[in-house]
Amino acid sequence: MSGGKLVIFSAPSGAGKTTIVRHLLSLGLNFGFSISATTRKPRGAEQNGKEYYFLSAEEFKEKVDRDEFLEWEEVYPGCCYGTLKSEVDRIFKNGQNILFDIDVVGGSNIKKVYGDKALAVFIQAPSVDELEKRLMNRSTDHPEIIQERIAKAELEMSFAHLFDIVIVNDKLTDALAETEEKVRKFLEA
Ligand code: ADP
Ligand code: 5GP
Repeated sequence: MSGGKLVIFSAPSGAGKTTIVRHLLSLGLNFGFSISATTRKPRGAEQNGKEYYFLSAEEFKEKVDRDEFLEWEEVYPGCCYGTLKSEVDRIFKNGQNILFDIDVVGGSNIKKVYGDKALAVFIQAPSVDELEKRLMNRSTDHPEIIQERIAKAELEMSFAHLFDIVIVNDKLTDALAETEEKVRKFLEA
């Protein structure tokens, strides 16, 4: 698979983006994962420079002021996330395609910038109740954080029409197979 294309995954928290992105990264499709910067604290076994670049609010603001982000959002109150221009450069220079796991606003913005070079995929959970169950089962966030994420889910779902395709992640094996098929087709086109 030659490089230079972008595949963007967006969805409300708990819909299954991380699970699906990990699967795609394991397929040898010449993807580099865009490691975002965030001001949230590491969760579970997350490592700096692997899942995210974990920054203080001051460090994040310095990068905003120096125009180092392709896009950034305060995704949850007091919690900023952003795509560094240096990440996109690094992955393209390696001759790879880029895989993004970013929020619905950032995802639709990157799609606008890159047009046909980008495939924007919206991952939909069967319902908001199911999202809540998944976040509780994941056991990585405090109940207040889960409620904050659920409160935002309805609004996030209203962004689905801005994406090229919507994958309903009900049965995981079906969602993985459908995503893999659509992504392979896009990379081969
Ligand atoms: P996101 O990255 O969108 O927040 P995750 O990939 O972390 O979501 O998934 C949230 C939780 O739901 C995880 O514990 C994951 O193992 C689980 N999960 C993912 N897909 C499914 C599915 N189809 N059915 C049930 N649980 C799922
Ligand atoms: P989490 O804290 O669960 O890892 O991510 C919370 C939300 O922030 C998810 O919707 C995730 O996709 C989004 N996110 C992660 N990185 C970025 C980024 O670089 N930019 C934007 N806009 N959102 C991001």
